[in-house]
Amino acid sequence: MTATFAVRCDPNGTIVRVLRDPDRIATSAATLAECVISGSAPDVFTLLRDTFSDRLTAPVQMRVADRDEVLWCVAARDGDTAVVVGAADADQIGAMIAAIRADVSDDVATTLDVRCAAVPVPSSGDDDTLLELSRTNNELVRLHRELAAAHARLDALNDRKNEILAMVAHDLRNPLGSIGGFAQLLERMLGDALEPRALRLLERIGALSDQMIEIVDDLVDVQALERGNIVLDVEDVELGDVVRRTVDTYEVATAAKDLQIAVSCPDDAVHVEGDERRLLQVFDNLVSNAVKYSPAGVGATIRVTCAADRETVTIDVADEGHGIPPDEHTRVFEAFARTSVEPTGGERSTGLGLPITRSIVAAHGGTITFDSAPGQGSTFRVTLPRRQRSDPDARSSP
Ligand code: ADP
Repeated sequence: MTATFAVRCDPNGTIVRVLRDPDRIATSAATLAECVISGSAPDVFTLLRDTFSDRLTAPVQMRVADRDEVLWCVAARDGDTAVVVGAADADQIGAMIAAIRADVSDDVATTLDVRCAAVPVPSSGDDDTLLELSRTNNELVRLHRELAAAHARLDALNDRKNEILAMVAHDLRNPLGSIGGFAQLLERMLGDALEPRALRLLERIGALSDQMIEIVDDLVDVQALERGNIVLDVEDVELGDVVRRTVDTYEVATAAKDLQIAVSCPDDAVHVEGDERRLLQVFDNLVSNAVKYSPAGVGATIRVTCAADRETVTIDVADEGHGIPPDEHTRVFEAFARTSVEPTGGERSTGLGLPITRSIVAAHGGTITFDSAPGQGSTFRVTLPRRQRSDPDARSSP
């Protein structure tokens, strides 16, 4: 004979009265949750929550503690308490409902009857499969519920993170700008009177505050771009010019690491529709990475190559650096993620440059890909749609 029970409990599952318990499942327990193994507890709470919120509750299955038994449970609200009946199948639940009729109102008994009728009838031979299916189903429902709760927590944390980032952007950027500005002012006011060491320190203050502003800007960018909040100031941009201007800004940094940058872009102008400032940011990130991850002091070369066909423009930035191990490739475009490849000259690394770059390229209708392997360096490739000739403003382009 399989176990059966009927209890009355409050919304927390505390058993306030045992109505029938021939198999001593609930008699020794204070709460309904104690009657079942922990994996089934969420189902008990769902059953109670649905019952007390007067929702239509489906029968649920729960595994009885210390027994290798699974019971179907149905419940009905009776004022401040719920009447819960559990048994192995609909026949046994029906018998138990008949036995407790005197203890419950007609409405409650009818509700229990209706819910008991929803307990699947196992056909002979398929019992085990059906039971297993029901268990799997219960488990799926439970996992789904946990996932939804985790999602909600994640959303709340993400909102919090965004608030903090907005606060950082607002409250740090201005004072940082002032620090840099004051350092420059002092340099101008006292430049000649200062001894060289003091002058160098002032310059360092200026450079560090600029660096911190860049980090704050990257944080703000990555947040805005991830949400798709990017507004492009679109104009006709000559890409070769953008590439060459970017490379020019790395003269000092490349000299310090004994690097060469070889630029090969067609003499003919190649135009795209884009936001010049954002496109400068794209190539600045790629060239700065190439410089950052190239070996210092060995005369390595960085190659920046532009190519165009009728539809697209492609720019490759290739270095002779360490190269990224294949199992770390998926992290490269993740915000704040870094790979095991470290900058070769102690440069800063935030893991924000490439996610920002990818968002900007995507906003221009383009793509960014890369080839990289240890010992073979890295090549990052940006492909952008070319400004079409039919556009009267683009006549000068080939
Ligand atoms: P950052 O360089 O500031 O850390 P990025 O988002 O630009 O951030 O790059 C993410 C990571 O990808 C870097 O930390 C680095 O590990 C790797 N990476 C990017 N570019 C290169 C490159 N040219 N060579 C080797 N590794 C690179």
